Amino acid sequence: MTLPVWQHDAWQNLMQRLTRGALAHALLLSGPAGLGKQVFASSFAQSLLCSSRDTDGSACGECKSCRLMAAGSHPDFLRIGVEEEKSQISVDQIRTLGERLALSTQFGGYQIAIIAPAEDMNASASNALLKTLEEPTADSIIILVSHQSARLSATIRSRCQRIDFRTPSAAVAQVWLEQQGISTAQASLALQTSDNNPGLALEWLRAGTLELREQVAGDLRGLIAGRSTALEVANRWSKADPAQRLWFAALLSREEAGAHVSGQTGPLALSATVDFARLPAWFDQANRARDWLRGPVRPELTLFEVLSAWCGLVSLRRKA
Ligand SMILES: [Zn+2]
Repeated sequence: MTLPVWQHDAWQNLMQRLTRGALAHALLLSGPAGLGKQVFASSFAQSLLCSSRDTDGSACGECKSCRLMAAGSHPDFLRIGVEEEKSQISVDQIRTLGERLALSTQFGGYQIAIIAPAEDMNASASNALLKTLEEPTADSIIILVSHQSARLSATIRSRCQRIDFRTPSAAVAQVWLEQQGISTAQASLALQTSDNNPGLALEWLRAGTLELREQVAGDLRGLIAGRSTALEVANRWSKADPAQRLWFAALLSREEAGAHVSGQTGPLALSATVDFARLPAWFDQANRARDWLRGPVRPELTLFEVLSAWCGLVSLRRKA
C-alpha cells in the first residue's frame, strides 16, 4: 500500500492501537480537505476487515473481504454521506446505521461505518449518532471524516479518538505533486495558491481552477483602480464558485501583505495608495464571509459587503 508520506504517522498510530487492543469505537479523522482522509479511512476499514493483513497493516487485496470491499458490497461495511440532491446527512441515515450495527457481524470480524463529511450531519442526525456512540456494540468502529471538525458538536468530538491530518511542508508537497506528473513550476504555483495543500493543488491543476485565481486577482486590482464596482463584482462572483473566489481573494490579500512587508511586489501588485496595514483585517473578514456563504444570507450581499471593504482599503488621505 502506498500512502502519501504525510499520512504515515496517522497510519502507524492506528495500527499500534489496533495491536494493543486500544482502538476506540469511534475515530475522528480531522484536517483540511485535500489531504486524502477519505481514502485513508477506506484503506483502514479494508485493513480491519481483511483476513490476512500484511506486516505493515495494509489489506492483502485478495481475500474474500478485500474482494467484497473492492466491489462495494461488504456486508459489514457501511458508508454514509450526503445523498444526492440533499445538502445534509439525515437522521434516517444515522438510524439505519444504528440498526445495522445492532446486528451481529456477517464475517465475525468488525462492523465498520464511515461517515463523511461528518460535519454535514444535521442536528437530529448528530443527536442520533451520539446515542449510537454512547452504547457501542462490541465489534463496531465508526470512522468520522471531517474537514471542519469545529462544526461537530463538542459531545461527539469528546466521544471520538481524534486523528489529526496536517498539511505537509512545502518541500514534501512539491515532491508528491511532481510524482503525480506535475511540472516543477506548475506544482510550485499551485502549492502557493492552495496554502501548501497537495491534494487541493492537484485537484485545481486538473480542474483548471488556477485560472479562476487569475480572474479573482484581476477583479481585486480592478476594484482598487476604480475600473469596476463592488456591486458589479459581487453579482458576478455570486453566480459561480463564490466560496472558492472568496478564498482565493483572501489568500491573495495575505500574500500581498506578506510581500509588502518584505519589500517585494505581491501577486496583486497593489500601489502605495492602498492601506497595507489593513490587509490582515480584510483577510479575516473575507475568511469569515466564507462561513456566511453557507448561511441563509444571499451570497451577493455577503460578497458586496466584503468587496466594499476591499475598495475601502484605498487610503482616504491619498484619495483626497
Ligand atoms: Zn484481504
